[in-house]
Amino acid sequence: MHQINNFRDKMIYELYLGVQVLSIIAMLIFFKSFTTFSVNPSPYTNVFLWIYGLYVLGKFIHFIYKNYFLELPQILHPSLWIMFTDGIFLTFFLYITKDSYYVLSHLFYLYITIQTIIFHARHSMISSTSAAIFYIFLVVMENPKSLISAPVAIHIGLFYLLGYIISSVMNELHRLEAYSTHMYEELKRKNEQLSEIANKDYLTSMYNHKSFYCHFNEIIQHATISNVPFSLALFDIDDFKKINDTYGHLSGDMVLKEVSFLILETIRKTDIAARYGGEEFALIFPNTSPEEAEKICERIREAIESHPVITDEHTIHVTISGGMAGGILCNQHCKQHKLLEFVDQLLYEAKSHGKNQIRASYQTLIFINE
Ligand code: GH3
Ligand code: MG
Ligand code: MG
Repeated sequence: MHQINNFRDKMIYELYLGVQVLSIIAMLIFFKSFTTFSVNPSPYTNVFLWIYGLYVLGKFIHFIYKNYFLELPQILHPSLWIMFTDGIFLTFFLYITKDSYYVLSHLFYLYITIQTIIFHARHSMISSTSAAIFYIFLVVMENPKSLISAPVAIHIGLFYLLGYIISSVMNELHRLEAYSTHMYEELKRKNEQLSEIANKDYLTSMYNHKSFYCHFNEIIQHATISNVPFSLALFDIDDFKKINDTYGHLSGDMVLKEVSFLILETIRKTDIAARYGGEEFALIFPNTSPEEAEKICERIREAIESHPVITDEHTIHVTISGGMAGGILCNQHCKQHKLLEFVDQLLYEAKSHGKNQIRASYQTLIFINE
């Protein structure tokens, strides 16, 4: 959203510079028509055009430098000095176009509109007042007697009215913008919450069964394309039914939380840990050889074995068994369920050989490449 606001500010400033460039072209055409209709051009015309041209060019270069050449582009914050300078140029232009000044003085409305938009309605009173002062100056220079007249009073009143209307509209737009920003942030937060609920297991904060398969597919695809190894492990808490029966389901839940915490603590950020079933966990180690993965699995097993779960009344000793396999995939159409079955078989072996152990195989490559 911040980016959108920056983009909007940049667009407004570009528009403002565009109007100034157009004003130079309009002035050139205007002064040209002076000579065509043999109206006396002011001797200052050329000097004015040169100075104004250089002023706009300077602003252009400054804008382009700040936005396109700096490492971190900055949005130009409008300054009151620039507002006054723009007003002085406009006043001088009107001064040297004496004959058409009554018509052209309407350009002050354009001046107020542009300044109010650039300043995001912050200084509409200042832009209206400066337009009024410049306008009074022109009237005095032209004919001081006409200063106290209805048209002058109406013009000045309209300057303030225009500033007020534009700033009210802009304030309302800003209010709507703030509201939509708030709604956008709220939606983003809710989406994150929903995705957390949909992808994570409520008890252990690990990925759930469904999101495990999404990651599994992605990792298999990446491993096949990049020809890098990956490893897969399945863990199962030993005699968990007995833990539930002895200490109760709440203590069983505490054990699940503690075991998953220890697993998440031990693995790396890039590894995927999911609660695969009731007291079963599936781990994927991307870009990891089975030898490396086996070491991590052993560390997890040792950590769980050496950290008994302490409840209010009991100290529960927990162990896990695991199966682990991995390697480089050669066949893009490898069957993920076959790999899971294979690792499950290794887990079964770990259970039947006395539990609290990891059974690893480095033969996956041959197995998958059917
Ligand atoms: P083994 O060592 O062979 O794995 O035996 P086990 O007792 O761990 O395995 P079994 O499959 O017989 O029992 C698993 C138990 O896990 C049964 C089920 O009630 C319990 N369980 C599954 N999900 C949850 C849960 O969310 N909370 C609790 N407290 N228990 C659960
Ligand atoms: Mg089980
Ligand atoms: Mg079990």
